[in-house]
Amino acid sequence: CGIFAYLNYHVPRSRREILEILLKGLRRLEYRGYDSAGVGIDGGNSKDWESNAKAIQLIKQRGKVKVLDDEIQKQQDIDLDVEFDVHLGIAHTRWATHGVPSPVNSHPQRSDKHNEFIVIHNGIITNYKDLKKFLESKGYEFESETDTETIAKLVKYMYDNRENDDTSFATLVEQVTQQLEGAFALVFKSVHFPGEAVGTRRGSPLLMGVKSDHKLSADHIPILYSGKDKKSCTTLPRLDQDTCLFPVEEKAVEYYFASDASAVIEHTNRVIFLEDDDIAAVADGRLSIHRIKRTAGDHPARAIQTLQME
Ligand code: GLU
Repeated sequence: CGIFAYLNYHVPRSRREILEILLKGLRRLEYRGYDSAGVGIDGGNSKDWESNAKAIQLIKQRGKVKVLDDEIQKQQDIDLDVEFDVHLGIAHTRWATHGVPSPVNSHPQRSDKHNEFIVIHNGIITNYKDLKKFLESKGYEFESETDTETIAKLVKYMYDNRENDDTSFATLVEQVTQQLEGAFALVFKSVHFPGEAVGTRRGSPLLMGVKSDHKLSADHIPILYSGKDKKSCTTLPRLDQDTCLFPVEEKAVEYYFASDASAVIEHTNRVIFLEDDDIAAVADGRLSIHRIKRTAGDHPARAIQTLQME
């Protein structure tokens, strides 16, 4: 099973190029084993990426990445030549733990039929039955047999019940992960947060790749704590209360999320290995890493490592 996501920020890419990058990422993860594959990308064929980001399209299939590729080629309503200045695409290979291999049980899983929030997940949510019962009592209707669907519904629940209109995507995901038990690597995408990505993990692997034409402005990303002991940005300038500016000078940057470095190394050798309960958020091309609170022995920064190319 595997996770691969790709975000281009002011690096224009056609939908065809984006899908090729996503599928190539999945092929690199095939060795991990899987029974189904899927992608979530922006729909719409406008010239304006922001208006396309208001509709998310899911393409999911049982079987090999090749079967998914064939299905993508068959799609009538997506123009592969549309160019996106900014875009987040998420892709997944599934090894079913809850629910048979089928298109509806494949990932991304979604919050609702409008695809407001979508998520890809590797791992198992052990308390999903309780979460499902709670969400059903609130009127959320389930379509799949997966444990993962509860995560997609829970993030919409947090959004629908948010305290402030400006609650960030990272904060919503932080609220979600506090309710989850089990093992997970997750990447979220939403029509409410165009061009933004949030990834997190606990017990399942997840790393990020960063690519920029410019020299990266730091080799560490300071952790931002949402609890009382808010951490300063140290070497990086601050955008606001919750966000350090990384990278600082670059206007064009690409980010990758993957289960394994072998899927990103052809794009970049600069990687950040996320730790359990890190919440990595890209918004406006800036990466920030959040944790709830600092615990003893916790390193207050994540290194941007340089992998040796072979
Ligand atoms: N537990 C999830 C499912 O069955 C994710 C499985 C995986 O790691 O691919 O859908």
